[in-house]
Amino acid sequence: MSPSDPAGSGEPTTDALLTARGLRKSFGDNEVLRGIDLTLHRGEVVVLIGPSGSGKTTVLRALNGLETPDSGTIVVAGGPDIDFAPGSPVKPRERKQKRLALRDRSAMVFQHHNLFPHLSVLENVIEGPWRVQGRPKAEVVAEAQALLARVGLADKADARPHELSGGQQQRVGIVRALALRPDLLLFDEPTSALDPELVGEVLLVIKELADEGWSMVVVTHELSFAREAADRVFFMDAGVVIEEGPPSEIFGAPQHERTQRFLTRIL
Ligand code: ADP
Repeated sequence: MSPSDPAGSGEPTTDALLTARGLRKSFGDNEVLRGIDLTLHRGEVVVLIGPSGSGKTTVLRALNGLETPDSGTIVVAGGPDIDFAPGSPVKPRERKQKRLALRDRSAMVFQHHNLFPHLSVLENVIEGPWRVQGRPKAEVVAEAQALLARVGLADKADARPHELSGGQQQRVGIVRALALRPDLLLFDEPTSALDPELVGEVLLVIKELADEGWSMVVVTHELSFAREAADRVFFMDAGVVIEEGPPSEIFGAPQHERTQRFLTRIL
């Protein structure tokens, strides 16, 4: 298993994999994103932190095409510019095409794994690459088995999700994302629904993927993970990126008063 185009050394390069500019999104009167800029380089790990309701999940969902911004641009290297320009009426079909173009490139791991309860672990993993992407079943099964072994779940391939612990289920969720062979991984609070003793095993898998050079954006409240795994940390509040930088700067010497207040509260 390897990312589609790792940096090799594990160091981020200057090569932008994903560039989002000026993302804005309102739900009714509630302006949730107020001009978000975010660049993810190949092999880089960006962690989004911030108070609940600050818009972190909405950013991820926009990057994944699950949410359509009201305005802004998203570019994934090698793909078209996905422009959500204001004022230009977007036809429903066009809107759908834009979202699908994004969804093909990334895979999201959710807070709740959303595994199909009636399918085995293996069937859950192959569903996307086999049925949706149309890849040959034998190839997909072999890859799925290797990925399950990679996260210590080789012997669970035939189990149903309910027979697994929460941490194991979430590891299956990660494997399911990897099996789609995405360019980048998006994690939306992947451990916040887990019992505390199960958090570590899931973070370890994510950390290993980061070390292997996967490009990822992670929303989490696990600040020790952010400290260890992030190349850059973005602190968001009220729909705005207040500051961003390497973890040593954001945690060691936050510049903005709002960041300082958040860190004091949470640490
Ligand atoms: P965070 O991930 O930082 O907790 P979210 O992106 O989940 O923040 O939410 C930001 C704000 O957007 C919240 O006020 C939330 O209630 C609102 N919101 C998110 N999704 C929807 C939606 N589909 N409809 C209406 N409001 C939403």
